[in-house]
Amino acid sequence: MRGRCRYRGAVLLETLELARENGAKPEHLRALLESWLGGEPLRLDVRGFPPARRLVAALGTIEAQLARIGRVRSEHPSSDGATRLLIELADGAAVESVLLARGGLCISTQVGCAVGCVFCKTGEGGLVRQVTADEMLAQVALARARAQVRRVVLMGMGEPAHNLEHVLAALRVLGAEGRFAHKHLVFSTVGERAAIEALRVHAVRPALALSLHTTRADLRRELLPRAPKLEPREVLELALDYSDAITWPLQVQWTLLEGVNDGDEELQTLGDWLAGRRAMVNFIPWNRVEGFAFARPAEERGKAMVAHLRSRGIIATLRTSGAQDVEGACGQLRARSLPLRRRTGARAATEGSDSSALSAPFTPQ
Ligand code: SF4
Repeated sequence: MRGRCRYRGAVLLETLELARENGAKPEHLRALLESWLGGEPLRLDVRGFPPARRLVAALGTIEAQLARIGRVRSEHPSSDGATRLLIELADGAAVESVLLARGGLCISTQVGCAVGCVFCKTGEGGLVRQVTADEMLAQVALARARAQVRRVVLMGMGEPAHNLEHVLAALRVLGAEGRFAHKHLVFSTVGERAAIEALRVHAVRPALALSLHTTRADLRRELLPRAPKLEPREVLELALDYSDAITWPLQVQWTLLEGVNDGDEELQTLGDWLAGRRAMVNFIPWNRVEGFAFARPAEERGKAMVAHLRSRGIIATLRTSGAQDVEGACGQLRARSLPLRRRTGARAATEGSDSSALSAPFTPQ
């Protein structure tokens, strides 16, 4: 790995380098990564490669270094079986992950978010800082130490497309040493051309979820004020092309806001755009956030919208987000402990990291 690790400030790479300096072979590095990402005690047992004595002696230090990346500060179990985890990062910033029912895990890719969706608590405070690839991986490791995780969705705090290099690096590791099926990793975005094009040629091509929310360009600009300036139809076509390329359905996310985007006209247009395409629609009734002047439509309206799309041959569901009673549902996550000075703008970087170097994979060489 020496010479390939230009990603300064990444604790994970420094830790693997420490192991290597203590005699770890690539097989040991892989075992370390696999066990850490699996939420298990760190392993060095590799058939045919007994670890050097000094490597075994260094295991405690390696473990302590990895624990520095992030720790669970508090756990908030919900009545519906989901659990919100508040995770403290090394600099005191906090992100939230949500363990969902049936083996799902929602992780955060940024502290805060610059898109500023007007119905979302995360977007309210702007972007504080990027989350590094190893901080994303730590969220998975910490969750797997508590529960079985078979599916990771990048749908917590942040817009993954605004932290692309770190997200791509994390996806690469999750698809390899994390042993996740590529389609069990879900990249959720408001839609950005460069990000979708990067995913097309990436080693791990995840499933895609597009937060569309409306078919009207004027309304989308209002609801998602700092999303890329693409027309809804244009961004949908980009996402559908990607889904065709990976032969896996696009998930169209639609937060339902009463009297805003739950009308017949929008529904008709959405049906026209998606009929016969490789996509499914998730209607998500808006989750209440204190001080926000929105309401969710009646359940019957959501069901009628689903029924309409299904009658046109489009897979559609009415989702209830998990962990609503512990503020862990979509749009409710927020930076609950933020000693850092707020910085806005999609490009705010993490102190001490060099994301340009993430072309170097974590995979032990
Ligand atoms: S909904 Fe997603 S993209 Fe929009 S502000 Fe919230 S976290 Fe950011």
